[in-house]
Amino acid sequence: MTLTELQRHLERRGLRTTQPRLRLLQFFSHTDGHFTPEEIAERFRLAGEPIPIATLYQNLRVFSEHGLIGEVIGHGGEVRYDTNLTPHSHLRCDHCSKLLDVFLSLPDLQPQGQGHDWTITGARVELQGICPDCQAIASPQLMPTLESD
Ligand SMILES: [Zn+2]
Ligand SMILES: [Zn+2]
Repeated sequence: MTLTELQRHLERRGLRTTQPRLRLLQFFSHTDGHFTPEEIAERFRLAGEPIPIATLYQNLRVFSEHGLIGEVIGHGGEVRYDTNLTPHSHLRCDHCSKLLDVFLSLPDLQPQGQGHDWTITGARVELQGICPDCQAIASPQLMPTLESD
């Protein structure tokens, strides 16, 4: 996305265009992953363009409220901001807590019994597993044992 398009994104949502906001949006449009505010601050610091952490916190919250970025809860309960705006599910590694964006074709999600009369508007699915990197270094205890009869 170009800077002009990003600017339009902000304006369409009635948000003021500030330098930190534009830089943040640019970061999200060029980066894949799920980041804590601290990790984002570190990236900007390393790039020689630090953004104060309070400014980051505030703008990330605003972006999230306006649907410009997603939110996902990390392994330790921390909020991570998601750069992928396409509806997707997450696959989390039990061992290293790595998060992967995955696309699932979901079956009919209307609950049976209790909740059957609700209108379902969306679903957040999180799958757990063991990533290939961890499988490669896994000790036998780490891997789920398959029952044999
Ligand atoms: Zn892993
Ligand atoms: Zn994601």
